[in-house]
Amino acid sequence: MSVVDEVKAQLDIVDIVSQTVKLRRTGKNYIGFCPFHSNTRTPAFVVFPDSQTWRCFGACNEGGDIFRFVMKREGWDFAETLRYLADKAGVQLSPRTQESSADESHKEALRQVLEEAVQFFRRQMLETDEGRQALDYLHQRGLSDETIKIWGLGYAPSSWNALGSALQRKGYNQSLLESAGLITLREDGTSYDRFRQRLMFPIRDTYGKMAGFGGRILFSEDQTAAKYINSPRTDLFDKGGLLYGLDMARREIRKSEQAVIVEGYMDVIGLHQAGFHNAVSPMGTALTEDQFTLLKKFSRNIVLALDPDAAGEKATLRGLETARQTLDQEAELRFDARGLLHVESRLRADIRVTTLPEGKDPDEIVLADPKAWEQIVAKAKPVVVHVMETLAASQNLEDAKVKREIAAQVLPLIEDVADPVEREAYREQLARLLHVDVRALLASTPQKRQPRRSRGAQREAMLSPEASPLADSASRNRILEKEALQALLRDPESLYRLNRSLGLLGLESFDEADFMESDFRQGFKLVKASLEQDLMSPKEYLEENLPEGLEEKDEPPTMSKILPPSEEKRLAEQVRTVVRIRRNVVQDRIQEIQFLQSELEEKTFSEEEAQILLLELLNRRRILDLAFQSPLAGGSNLSYKHSR
Ligand SMILES: [Zn+2]
Repeated sequence: MSVVDEVKAQLDIVDIVSQTVKLRRTGKNYIGFCPFHSNTRTPAFVVFPDSQTWRCFGACNEGGDIFRFVMKREGWDFAETLRYLADKAGVQLSPRTQESSADESHKEALRQVLEEAVQFFRRQMLETDEGRQALDYLHQRGLSDETIKIWGLGYAPSSWNALGSALQRKGYNQSLLESAGLITLREDGTSYDRFRQRLMFPIRDTYGKMAGFGGRILFSEDQTAAKYINSPRTDLFDKGGLLYGLDMARREIRKSEQAVIVEGYMDVIGLHQAGFHNAVSPMGTALTEDQFTLLKKFSRNIVLALDPDAAGEKATLRGLETARQTLDQEAELRFDARGLLHVESRLRADIRVTTLPEGKDPDEIVLADPKAWEQIVAKAKPVVVHVMETLAASQNLEDAKVKREIAAQVLPLIEDVADPVEREAYREQLARLLHVDVRALLASTPQKRQPRRSRGAQREAMLSPEASPLADSASRNRILEKEALQALLRDPESLYRLNRSLGLLGLESFDEADFMESDFRQGFKLVKASLEQDLMSPKEYLEENLPEGLEEKDEPPTMSKILPPSEEKRLAEQVRTVVRIRRNVVQDRIQEIQFLQSELEEKTFSEEEAQILLLELLNRRRILDLAFQSPLAGGSNLSYKHSR
């Protein structure tokens, strides 16, 4: 789902609709004349920023998300709309949808020469005296020969042109070597190797294709040389968009539902060797939102393991002071609390921080005692709690001044947390930590910020207790729609059985109109198309045609792996999901009408119209409630009969 989610996170439906529809603010929402039917008397078109949806209460009686709006307005299909909105949002689409084949073959050539370089560096390590010193170093750090081989580690000799000339002898030209980031051109047209006298770490993309190298200095006399250098930016290598080890870690991250970010390449390798296959690292000291987005495809639970100095606590504190104003513009995030909270709420991830023992790297810890690593990860705490405890450590908490300072630093952070329940819990935790009363703490809470027209602020509004209930059910339905679609993707033919059950319950067939989320609606269309073609099995058809993002989570949840549910149970589950989706939609509609009638100065509907609409909806809700209790939906209608 990542690309669509990202696009939605970046764009504001109010902006997009406003391009062509004149909107007026009424309370939390915006209202205007529907662009899809002709009407200039009653504004019946409402945009709900909380849930980022729109609806026409007039002749169309239709609504949806930002994609649905643009598709309808422009008459485009989903793919065109995605290209347009992704471009607007500055979101990169996957290569499959965007690149020309010429581009792809250029990249293929780059990958090939990088693979050659991997082989070259490996031979240097195994076959030369200089290289064997590097090998000794790796052995000392506890790496086995098998590990060294799996990760393709190697050695770049102390020569200015060993690699360059070896590869040119093999027929690779200078400009290709330069584009791959392996050599640097001099003004006179000669060149020199970028990596010299370094331990070499091949860096691969998520799917294991070569992207570049990291090189660690080993025995240089040159004290000014950087400890680590990476490939320069190339068509394959963008250090902010890659994570070291993700190709090896992605399966385990998905399986264990957790990713652990450590700081160095050696840490990643050491952890994997010890059986912790969910570790990855960035290419330097900064983590970017792109990297979190990449990880989120595999799990939303992310643990940062930081060492207690530079990258850890100091950075946390520095972040507190500096990041606040600039975050919206900054592309690159440091290890700072505010940035992490921002990413966490944007990506709806769960980011936690754990601190390593003083002076020890993860690979050392795990080599000495794998259990110790498990404990360190288990101790990870939410970002706010981490900051609170870090600030309070080794401070005199009896001192009123200290208390005030800590509160002043932590309270604004708490305000940035999107979830109101979580916010409340943090305030209480802070009050306990400082031994003060929560009310006293709240009295010092900074004034509520002016509403910003950014998505972050809207998300906050969307989750705050005073927000309308619409938003909640919108995100609830996104989950349900996903469930419904995934059941069909796993077993497309179950759609027939599902529709038969729905028919028996007096309900319409499950249809694309049941999907409010455009990406899932698109997925559902594909399921239908898979059933309508006879070139291959529906499942194969889906595998070939499914856009990236929709294929995630192919396996049923763990419980059902132990005891696979009967077909009957699975079907009942599908029926329940559809009924719940429809019930939520009806419920939304009821609330929307009540909202429109009570909060707008000028009523959208007359009392009578509203009554008719409401009665219709209440009736529909009753039918759905009955269906929900039927045995076809896994319920027992016996209890219903009793209560009657
Ligand atoms: Zn309309």
